[in-house]
Amino acid sequence: MSFELVWLKRDLRWLDHAPLAGASMQGPIRVVYIVEPGLWAQPDVSLQHFEFIAESLHDLHIELQRQSGAVEVHYGNAVEVFEQIWQEGAFPRIHSHQETGNSWTYKRDLAVAAWCQSKGVSWQESAQFGVVRGLKDRNRWQRAWEQHMGAPKSSPGPMRFWRSYPSHSLRMVTPAGLAHSAPKRQRGGRGQATLVLQEFLETRSEQYRGGISSPRLAPNACSRLSVYLAYGCLSMREVVQASRARLAELPAQSRQRLGLQSFLSRLYWHCHFIQKLESEPEIEWQNMHRGYDGLREEDFNLRHFEALQAGATGWPMVDACVTMLRETGWLNFRMRAMLVSVASYPLWLHWRPVGEWLARQFLDYEPGIHWSQMQMQAGTTGINTTRVYNPIKQAQDHDPRGDFVRFWLPHLRGVPSTWIFEPWRLPSGAGLKISGRDPRPIPQPVVDLAAATKLAKQRLYERRNRPDVRAARGAIVERHASRLGRRDELRESRAEPDAPQLSLDL
Ligand SMILES: Cc1cc2nc3c(=O)[nH]c(=O)nc-3n(C[C@H](O)[C@H](O)[C@H](O)COP(=O)(O)OP(=O)(O)OC[C@H]3O[C@@H](n4cnc5c(N)ncnc54)[C@H](O)[C@@H]3O)c2cc1C
Repeated sequence: MSFELVWLKRDLRWLDHAPLAGASMQGPIRVVYIVEPGLWAQPDVSLQHFEFIAESLHDLHIELQRQSGAVEVHYGNAVEVFEQIWQEGAFPRIHSHQETGNSWTYKRDLAVAAWCQSKGVSWQESAQFGVVRGLKDRNRWQRAWEQHMGAPKSSPGPMRFWRSYPSHSLRMVTPAGLAHSAPKRQRGGRGQATLVLQEFLETRSEQYRGGISSPRLAPNACSRLSVYLAYGCLSMREVVQASRARLAELPAQSRQRLGLQSFLSRLYWHCHFIQKLESEPEIEWQNMHRGYDGLREEDFNLRHFEALQAGATGWPMVDACVTMLRETGWLNFRMRAMLVSVASYPLWLHWRPVGEWLARQFLDYEPGIHWSQMQMQAGTTGINTTRVYNPIKQAQDHDPRGDFVRFWLPHLRGVPSTWIFEPWRLPSGAGLKISGRDPRPIPQPVVDLAAATKLAKQRLYERRNRPDVRAARGAIVERHASRLGRRDELRESRAEPDAPQLSLDL
């Protein structure tokens, strides 16, 4: 029997899933997920991503089993898997969402497109986010985003499968060599995603304004929806529509209403950032502004990088953030930006290796946001105001009593508040020992913060002021900058409306 083939990628849901709905209207369906060894060998993926996908597919499979269907999991190169399915029986169409992934998935999609052409199979791709494929004019982007978000959600109705699947549980074999899963990470699945969304819209969004920059408050104050959007357990459209509906119920000027407005603007930024990678896939590997080529690449200090990855830079706020990230797979925006700033300025590390490490650490790794943000925080986009975060000032501003630092770095619990963010300054006569269950020597900063940052800024400004570098800026603005005006260009550089004035905060 012929069937419509639905190819699941990073869209692990059954509601507002245009490929499922579209395929179901055309005939019986067969729903496949492909575990591709080539993808899982890439440097930006980790075990926790795979586990999260497996949990999400499990939920989806249970839902499909209610209608006597199933998620079929196949292993291998996508083209080979399609060829094998084709040998079993020809099919007229593949239905999937568009994916703005990494360069590996980009090339894989080109190969799939060529295979489809060779077989006369029509590959019908639907937009997953408010991202426009083949965008010609950035001025039209905002309207397209609004159209996508305002369109009615699609529903597959009753699904008819190409055959009746017996009841079985979904088992997935983990690709060899995958490492790192944060023990306290968020769990996958649409069920979890829906709960997190409901709880955020009902109550937690009350704390959004004023709560999202502090690493201590942020885990509750932020929506925590990023990973559910990244793997498509929820559609962006349903999150936008549910947030707008909730907004309409809230009294004007209420704290929660203002919070939800800020949240909605971030959903817009989500797609705005992914559009950058969609329009210029090269920014995953090369500087958005080529005038910055050679700035840091040849100067990579492995000792600095290892100290950062180990959470052993000596700056407690940085080390606490690295520890939290390792344990939970998540950090708020401000602390992500601070980590990249510390890596890029005082530690003078090129953004690509740092970004690969962070991609594996962030459960919500979304290539379009990630690589654009990495470059923005590293100062290589050429169009955004440079922000250099001082990790000691960030600690004083966002963790004034040192609770966050002490929670994640138990070996510093005995350090009095005066020195908690600079423990190496403890007077030797203070008679204090850093001890307890986890005794360690007092950590020394990996470099002198003030001197290293001064040098880094000098090197960056020299490059930025070169006439050829200044001259090339206009073309990048034309291609990538927001069209909402200068204020929004500034806001984009922080992507954080709650942040204080844009400045170098050293
Ligand atoms: C270096 C760096 C790398 C990042 N990498 C990722 C990534 O791989 N995946 C990812 O989803 N976010 C990334 N972000 C953006 C941001 O930090 C996370 O989206 C946010 O912390 C996720 O938590 P949340 O869902 O609770 O956020 P909320 O504050 O509740 O935001 C809601 C949603 O808006 C979007 N969003 C929020 N902030 C931004 C932003 N600055 N730019 C674009 N979209 C945003 C996300 O989809 C998020 O889920 C990165 C930021 C930096 C500085």
